[in-house]
Amino acid sequence: MVEVKVDIEKCTGCGTCVDTCPVEVFEVKDEKSVVINNDECLVCRACEVQCPENAIEVIE
Ligand code: SF4
Ligand code: SF4
Repeated sequence: MVEVKVDIEKCTGCGTCVDTCPVEVFEVKDEKSVVINNDECLVCRACEVQCPENAIEVIE
């Protein structure tokens, strides 16, 4: 099981996570990233590394 979490206090809606994730886990809605496909997550952690605000946590 994996849980992808976005801290919406930190998220600026930049869209980097949408562009980075290979399996389209994220979508930006109203300038915040929303996790729409949690179960598709491959735990590659690219989103955690690339998010400029350090707003994403991938929890196994
Ligand atoms: S990369 Fe980070 S700051 Fe940018 S939209 Fe995704 S969660 Fe928000
Ligand atoms: S860890 Fe990888 S597969 Fe999972 S949400 Fe982040 S970029 Fe997507």
